[in-house]
Amino acid sequence: MMPESSATKRTPEGGRRAGPTGEYSDRTVLIVDDDPAHVQHVREGLAPHGYRFREARDGAQALSAIREHRPDLILMDVEMPGLGGVEVCRIIKANSGEGGFGFIPVILMTARQAAGKVEGLELGADDYLVKPFDMLELGARVKSMLRLKALQDALIEKNRELDRANKELARKREELLALSRTDPLTHLSNRRYFEERLEEEFARARRYRSPLSLVMLDIDYFKRINDTFGHPFGDEVLRAVAQVTRARLREVDLLARYGGEELIALLPETSPADALIACERVREAIEALQLEYQGLDGSKRTVRCTASLGVASIPSPTLQTSQDLLRAADECLYAAKGAGRNRVRQHEE
Ligand code: GH3
Ligand code: MG
Ligand code: MG
Ligand code: MG
Repeated sequence: MMPESSATKRTPEGGRRAGPTGEYSDRTVLIVDDDPAHVQHVREGLAPHGYRFREARDGAQALSAIREHRPDLILMDVEMPGLGGVEVCRIIKANSGEGGFGFIPVILMTARQAAGKVEGLELGADDYLVKPFDMLELGARVKSMLRLKALQDALIEKNRELDRANKELARKREELLALSRTDPLTHLSNRRYFEERLEEEFARARRYRSPLSLVMLDIDYFKRINDTFGHPFGDEVLRAVAQVTRARLREVDLLARYGGEELIALLPETSPADALIACERVREAIEALQLEYQGLDGSKRTVRCTASLGVASIPSPTLQTSQDLLRAADECLYAAKGAGRNRVRQHEE
C-alpha cells in the first residue's frame, strides 16, 4: 500500500480531498458589500484558497443570491444602504430550517469599532470581523466556518440516512409481524394470533357485556379428497374453502386456520341469531364451490366439498372463560359431524 501524502489526506468530515489550493476549495463564498473595492479586497485575500465566489451589493441581492446559489458561507458588510447586514443575517437565521436555506454560516464585517460585535453575534452571526482586517485572520475565520458548515452538512446527511434506515426498519418489522401472524398455505391468520386475539376479544366482550360468537369449521371427508386427488389438490381445496369463508364474513371478523383442515372464526358484536345466519351463509358457499381437478391424463373433473360448523356465543350463563367458549363450539362441530355433516350446530345455554 502507498502511504498517503499529507496533501491528499481525507478530511474527517466530508471525505473531500484537499486540492492543491487547500481544503474546501470547491465551496462557494458569497461576499456582500456595497463597496466594490472591499469586495475585491476580500476576494484577493481569499484567492489562494481557491474558493468559488459570488457577489452581492446589497441585502436584497444577497437574499436572491442565497436562494439561487446556496453558498457555503456568507461574508457580509453590516453597513449597507437599504437592508443592512444585521437584518439580512436575521432573515437567514430565521430561515435556517430544512425547508429554508438550511444552515449557512455568516461572518459579519463592519467598519464600526468593537461596540457592534456583541450585537452581531447576538443576532445570530457566527463570527464577526472589524475592518480593516488582517488577511491571514480572514483566511483562518473563513476556513473554520467552512469546516463548521461541512460538519453540519455531514450531520444532516447522516440524520437523513438514519431516518431512511429507521423507516425501512419499521416497515420490515411490520412485514415480519404480519408474517408471524399468517398461515402460509391459506394466508389466513394463524392459530397463535387467533388465540392472542381470542383472549382480548373475550375480555372486551365481558367488560362491555357485548355479544361475541365463535365458530369452528371442519371440512367433511377431507381425507377422501386427499386420497382421491392427491395432497396438492387437497391444499387447493383448503385454500378455496378459506377464501370463500373469508369472503362471507365481515371485515371485523377474525378468521384463522386452526388446524389441518379446520378453520376458526371470531365474530365480535354478533348475537347467536346473527352468528347462525353467518354460519349458514358460509356452509352454503362451501357447498356451492366447484373445483376443477385435472388428472395426469388430461381428464377433468369437478370436485365439490362440504363442511360442518359449530358455533357458540357469549354472554351465556354456562360459558365463563374463553376456553369454555372454544370447547362449546368444538362440541357443536362434532355434533354437526355426528348428525351427518354439511350442517351447522349451535350451542344452547
Ligand atoms: P371428517 O368429515 O370427519 O372431518 O373427515 P376428515 O377426513 O376430514 O377428517 P380427518 O380429521 O380424519 O382428516 C383430516 C385430513 O386432513 C387428514 C390430513 O391428512 C388432512 N390435512 C391436514 N392438513 C392438511 C393440509 O394442509 N393439506 C392437505 N392437503 N391435507 C391436510
Ligand atoms: Mg458598507
Ligand atoms: Mg375433516
Ligand atoms: Mg379435522
